[in-house]
Amino acid sequence: MVTRAGIVVTGTEVLTGRVADRNGPWLAEQLRRLGIDVGHVVVVGDRPDDLRATLSFLAGLGTDLLITSGGLGPTADDLTAQVVADFQGRPTAVDPALEQRVAAVVERLMARRGWRADPEATAAGVRKQATVPDGATVLEPVGTAPGLVVLPADGTDGPPVVVLPGPPGELQGMWPAALAAPAVRALLEGTTELHQRTLRLWGTLEAQLAATLREVEPELGGLEITTCLREGELEIVTRFSPDAEATYDRFADVVTDRYRDTVFSTGPTLDELVAQALGDHGLTIATGESCTGGLLSARLVERPGSSAYVLGGVTAYANAAKQQLLGVPAELLAEHGAVSPEVARALADGARSRFGADVGVGITGVAGPGGGSSGKPVGTVHVCVVGPDGVRERALRLHGSRTAVRERSVTMAMHLLRELLLGGPPA
Ligand code: ATP
Ligand code: MG
Repeated sequence: MVTRAGIVVTGTEVLTGRVADRNGPWLAEQLRRLGIDVGHVVVVGDRPDDLRATLSFLAGLGTDLLITSGGLGPTADDLTAQVVADFQGRPTAVDPALEQRVAAVVERLMARRGWRADPEATAAGVRKQATVPDGATVLEPVGTAPGLVVLPADGTDGPPVVVLPGPPGELQGMWPAALAAPAVRALLEGTTELHQRTLRLWGTLEAQLAATLREVEPELGGLEITTCLREGELEIVTRFSPDAEATYDRFADVVTDRYRDTVFSTGPTLDELVAQALGDHGLTIATGESCTGGLLSARLVERPGSSAYVLGGVTAYANAAKQQLLGVPAELLAEHGAVSPEVARALADGARSRFGADVGVGITGVAGPGGGSSGKPVGTVHVCVVGPDGVRERALRLHGSRTAVRERSVTMAMHLLRELLLGGPPA
């Protein structure tokens, strides 16, 4: 028996893309770990009818658990608690003890921020947030809004609805309390964690992999395999219950054997591999970037602890900057042009020597949309990685927007780093 959940993310700001949804994916991952399968993450605007229709739709599919995020604030467009109460057939009433607790939280918050507000309006907001469906389990506020677990009214059936606040920090802070609520605990009994493993390939076509998957499919009972192409990287994510572990191992062996030349990871991401390799070998790194304007540097320092190996980087856009800051010879620029393998190499060497790093990276190219020529069209990029024991260089002709060209150049630099530091499939 699979336990299935549906997630409803509310908020017109999420629906219109002004705010990117962080709650749906986070909740889906938490539920997967608990062995609950998520069939839907639905985004709806702040309209009661749409929210009600979505809850009905998901409940109608036989979903065992519904979770909502957002719409618990004190303002008029925050209507989730009322809609869920109606949906479950439960009247609402002010919980006086909760009203006092929320009022205390609001008071502390206003004092800390030095805010003043009309006491009557504040009290109305607090009362709204303390208005809960009859019989609901209240989840203590992490911000100001309490969460709820609401069961269908007595004598009716349907899934419990867990109502959580929208701000991701509040939602995540409230999650342990939601799991501890009796209705949720009862659902979790008997579910087992789903495992998830990832294989990463660089340079295999999705269609080719699909053919392999079709061929071995009959032997793969119990595995849910999804493939996804991202930035030229083919990701195979497999989910399975613990008793299918041996089947997964057989599948991973087949893929790593057939695609020996392209499987570069049986788990960690590219960035994790590069960071680990630098750390394990005790190497430091510095960058000299032109067309990527610091994107590689930013990507390297995204990881906590990167100050142990990233010494620094120079964004050298003008030729004068390349000469003065990274020691690129003027003759080299004059002879080959700024976008050339020679200058990429000089940028890498310059970063390496100016920062005293073990590894240097140079990137130079035409990101577009203007600035291309017949010899060096938009998308021409040269990447060079120099380390203590070798050099890796690549001339690229990339397609796509300015953003795409810059991001792919950085990804290629990361793969060259991986290849230089770890060997394995060529970048
Ligand atoms: P509040 O008391 O702040 O109004 P709320 O529970 O009513 O909380 P919302 O009004 O839906 O939540 O959202 C408040 C803010 O939280 C949004 O403006 C947005 O910045 C953030 N937020 C809400 N939902 C999401 C989401 N799914 N992903 C990322 N951020 C979100
Ligand atoms: Mg709100």
